[in-house]
Amino acid sequence: MSEGSPSDRLAPDLIDRVEALTVPELRALGALVEDRLAGSNDDLETMIRESAAGEIVDIDLENDASALVHKHPPAPDGSGVNEDTVSLYRVRRQPRFEGGEELRWAYLGDAADAHGPHCPDCGHPLPDDLTTCPHCGREVSDS
Ligand SMILES: [Zn+2]
Repeated sequence: MSEGSPSDRLAPDLIDRVEALTVPELRALGALVEDRLAGSNDDLETMIRESAAGEIVDIDLENDASALVHKHPPAPDGSGVNEDTVSLYRVRRQPRFEGGEELRWAYLGDAADAHGPHCPDCGHPLPDDLTTCPHCGREVSDS
């Protein structure tokens, strides 16, 4: 991790104060942090374009932390983009436990024919015999 641990990035007195909090106070702090992250200036659209597999067709921002994304998935054989299919995802960003943010991709369906399972994180199509996404490495269990 090049970004360092939280203790590298936060002032020691701030860490001391967080560690002194009670659980209810920590929950309140977590909610505050989520609000701040949701309202931060990091551009959700840019984050989506940087992380998506395939080709973005359309990004419909619902708010600062959530968007509907239409995209062509990558062709399962790796030959490029499957332009016959438009898949719809709801993408949310959420804070990562270890700091920073990550995008969560929820597959909502295909506008055209479905072509098998997709990675729930990045939307990459998953060949039948794969249990690990070839794009982002997420382990995917059969369902
Ligand atoms: Zn993936």
